[in-house]
Amino acid sequence: VKESDINKSSEEFRKYAHQFVDWMADYMKDIEQYPVKSQVEPRDIYDKIKNKIPTKSESLDNIFQDFKDLIIPGITHWQSPNYFAYFPANTSPPSILAEMLSATMGIQGMKWETSPASTELEEKMMEWLRDNMGIPKQWTGVIHDSASMATLVSIITAREVFSKYNINKEGFEGFTKFRVYCSEETHSSIEKGAKIAGIGQKNVIKITTNDRLELRHDLLLEQIKTDISNGYQPLCIIAAIGTTGTMSIDPLEDISNIAKEFKIWLHVDAAYAGSALFLPEYRYMIKGIKKADSFVFNPHKWLFTNFDCTAYFMKDKHAAINTFSILPEYLKTQTDGIVSNHCDWGIPLGRRFRSLKLWFVMRYYGLEGIQRKLRHHINLAIWLESKIIESSDFELLTPRGLNLVCFRYKPAGIKDEEKLNKLNEKLMHKLNASGSIYLTHTRVKGSFTLRMAIGQTNVEKSHIENAWILIKKAANK
Ligand SMILES: *Cc1c(COP(=O)(O)O)cnc(C)c1O
Repeated sequence: VKESDINKSSEEFRKYAHQFVDWMADYMKDIEQYPVKSQVEPRDIYDKIKNKIPTKSESLDNIFQDFKDLIIPGITHWQSPNYFAYFPANTSPPSILAEMLSATMGIQGMKWETSPASTELEEKMMEWLRDNMGIPKQWTGVIHDSASMATLVSIITAREVFSKYNINKEGFEGFTKFRVYCSEETHSSIEKGAKIAGIGQKNVIKITTNDRLELRHDLLLEQIKTDISNGYQPLCIIAAIGTTGTMSIDPLEDISNIAKEFKIWLHVDAAYAGSALFLPEYRYMIKGIKKADSFVFNPHKWLFTNFDCTAYFMKDKHAAINTFSILPEYLKTQTDGIVSNHCDWGIPLGRRFRSLKLWFVMRYYGLEGIQRKLRHHINLAIWLESKIIESSDFELLTPRGLNLVCFRYKPAGIKDEEKLNKLNEKLMHKLNASGSIYLTHTRVKGSFTLRMAIGQTNVEKSHIENAWILIKKAANK
């Protein structure tokens, strides 16, 4: 490449970057004008994309135009303050700006030497999180791409610690009767992790929950004793702090005592609710954490940091390193053994520079700003909960958990459960098809349940008031 080419491409970049940033700022400003849930039909987008790579270079003007015309209609606008579906994947201006810088440098932080700042900022950011969330000081953190990945890493580490790192070397010989325990409400990533880790889906034992949908530790204890007497090897318990369906909180302290008594690995899945640990008044949720082995939460859900960014903390980093490290000749560096090489702490070799956006976000908002936003979201959910309690036509199906409200339409006169299920399903589809708000559902003991997760970065009282009006109107129709 001649120097003139570099100059030319940097000037072209400058021109388009300004134009794109203008579009980005407008998108943020005008986001409520888009239908929250994409209104396209299956294959609408696919059929509009050309079948072949262009032979000749195309102008960025054309590509950008197609982005606006072809891609945007197929986007569900997760950053709309009228987005209440699943859990949010919220972002924020400082996070986006950091991602722009990260993409520009295009570094790959697999080893310390491949960009020392990436590794060392990650170490520091994990400490900032740990120390502001009530995670034990002695624990070490690392960033993964998803909670699913972190849970898989935890299960595999448990397997290796149990087998004294023999399964890695020899395969499963002698270790064929592992069992993993979680509640019937825990996330599907646990089953997926157990499948991939070679434990087998049928060895994931789902413990019945109480009426608040929390794992019953008395039944867990019983199950473990029965399994041991039948020759099984209890490997790992996964406690959910904030289940995806209804935000129930498993009793970590009781579970941790069982884990300790039977020397079972304990992993804590706080993928969503973990962010609430920034608020001291919610730290009770992880009482017992000292007796656990690992903990995961997603700043990419409710901490204003765009996907992907999963924080994984572990009591003993050496267990993970012994499980995952592998050192072929071409990866040897002169600082091995002195510094952290995060490629040895998990599955992928390559690693994005994800700590940069956490650093930007935490500095931009500050601890107080983060806490203010989290409390604000919870207060909005409290407001909606009070409206549902007041209303004679709606009911809560579980007590509100943090900023998640689970409810259904239940007009006087309709008692039949199947009818109520159908009615609520129809109501949800109608609301989502309107493009004005987007919410999703779960089932609570069989009942079709609407979920509103109120955690988008910019959600305000007016959005919740408006959503409540829309829900009542659509229900009455
Ligand atoms: C969202 C969620 C997950 C999965 O998170 P990913 O980062 O998408 O893998 C796991 N557990 C719980 C409780 C969740 O809410």
